[in-house]
Amino acid sequence: LSLSLPKPNRWLVCCVLQGMAFSLEERLQLGIHGLLPPCFISQDVQLLRVLKNYDMKRDDLDRYVFLMGLQDRNEKLFYRVLLSDIERFMPIIYTPTVGLACQQYGLIFRRPRGLFITIHDRGHIASLLQNWPEKDIRAVCVTDGERILGLGDLGCYGMGIPVGKLALYTACGGVPPQQCLPVMLDVGTDNEALLKDPLYIGLRHKRIRGQAYDDLLDEFMKAVSDRYGMDCLIQFEDFANINAFRLLSKYRNKYCTFNDDIQGTAAVAVAGLLASLRITKSKMSDHTIVFQGAGEAAMGIAELITMAMEREGLTKEEGLKKIWMVDSKGLIVKGRDHLTHEKERFAHEHPEMKKLEDVIQELKPTAIIGVAAVPGAFSEQIIRDMASFNERPVIFALSNPTSKAECTAEQCYTFTEGRGIFASGSPFDPITLPDGRTFYPGQGNNAYIFPGVGLGVTACAIQHITEEIFLIAAEALASLVTEEDLAQGRLYPPLSSIRDVSVKLAIKIMEHAYEHNMATLRPEPSDKGAYMHSLTYSTDYEEFVVDSYRWPEGSMTVQSCKL
Ligand code: NAD
Repeated sequence: LSLSLPKPNRWLVCCVLQGMAFSLEERLQLGIHGLLPPCFISQDVQLLRVLKNYDMKRDDLDRYVFLMGLQDRNEKLFYRVLLSDIERFMPIIYTPTVGLACQQYGLIFRRPRGLFITIHDRGHIASLLQNWPEKDIRAVCVTDGERILGLGDLGCYGMGIPVGKLALYTACGGVPPQQCLPVMLDVGTDNEALLKDPLYIGLRHKRIRGQAYDDLLDEFMKAVSDRYGMDCLIQFEDFANINAFRLLSKYRNKYCTFNDDIQGTAAVAVAGLLASLRITKSKMSDHTIVFQGAGEAAMGIAELITMAMEREGLTKEEGLKKIWMVDSKGLIVKGRDHLTHEKERFAHEHPEMKKLEDVIQELKPTAIIGVAAVPGAFSEQIIRDMASFNERPVIFALSNPTSKAECTAEQCYTFTEGRGIFASGSPFDPITLPDGRTFYPGQGNNAYIFPGVGLGVTACAIQHITEEIFLIAAEALASLVTEEDLAQGRLYPPLSSIRDVSVKLAIKIMEHAYEHNMATLRPEPSDKGAYMHSLTYSTDYEEFVVDSYRWPEGSMTVQSCKL
């Protein structure tokens, strides 16, 4: 069956791409003269219009819908808007608002974005990829929607996550958007509410698991690497525990892949810890760390902490002993029920304990890290206890979205009288204590890591992403935190500098890759900064050069732009 798709029409040309920023010459050449108001306006003025409209939106979900509409209409302007104030827009296109958007994805659905592959497409994934119009894909972000942020199984509604993450590859890392591919692997959903939701956009059956699921994943990984190359980065996002760990270990040495929930989180949290060591004047190996939660985030962070401790001279076993975990069944100890292979490694000889309060009293940790999505788990008692054992207690409430945070920034600073070293997963506003001191809570946002890692890995065509790369990224990020940032309570550089941060991380990764023979791009660029710059996406409008057009029945080719 061959379908002939309608040719792009003039109205589309007017509305998408650059609208009134088209010059007279371009309007004449494209045959759209008269279809736009006579005024010629610059991208700066278009930005102003967008910002004014944005200010009129009632709530964050409206803002999300508005920005996504702009992404569909005028991609360059969309990224120009994001870059005009990334700190302001990131919480809308990414966590926490993207969580709300995923929950309402059926309601706010306007236009499809990304590639939807279902379990029933097995055997045909290679031809589905052929349908994607771009041939040079450098970064794929894939989810199966089973564990979206801390919100659980959102099935096909989870597509908002790869879409948002890849928008940050471009906004923060400068990776051109046409080289990014968001993918939803729809295998069904176990979310009863979604199965009954008339607006649901995914397969209406329970999740298919087992061999069929594994076959789908195997075929997907192979098809992507066959079509786009072995150095095409495949980022796994928001897969449930049961699949995330095993898929990572299955594919990490075979393909160019990483799991952001495990490894990206690890790097950003360890960067925060490395920065906090400059405040506590201690080494990583001096710390005793308790995790609330023993899932993907906890395991990834703990693994990287032990690597950092090994660098300080500890053995792996000694490092593991300094880390304790509490899951939904209580403290993880040797001989306890419900211990997975991953949890076993952090099970120590100790009597069983159920309550986090008791665990904290007993172990007197120097740092607590919340990654269980149990809101308020860091009670006043726990925070006060931490402040009584430690001059500068480290308290990271990393669960997303904001409603799931273990404590608020205000609670941390208030109950520790400003001594707490705080980081959160979702952003918190600055806090001023009654004594007048103001603190700027650090946001342990994965966006500090994955765009830089993605840029570095793709820029020099690394084919396998080692754990070492994430430690390098963490160290590079921590080194960018200034003394002034630390004095204000910030454990991360300002989000406004994220593009610069990403490039610096990417350069470090490239240097490491060439040193260890991991980079396949030859010859090695001598000036890596300049090379990186040459790859970076620009939000400036392209000049339109019209080769030929006959309108309306003829064909029109527009170079340097994609319709
Ligand atoms: P996950 O589902 O893999 O793990 C959750 C863990 O919490 C499980 O081990 C579970 O046993 C445990 N848990 C559940 N209820 C509990 C309870 N009552 N007491 C103690 N433990 C309990 O999820 P994940 O990927 O590890 O993510 C967890 C949270 O961390 C999410 O909210 C996520 O948004 C957040 N997160 C934050 C960042 C960041 O800040 N950069 C990055 C990744 C994840």
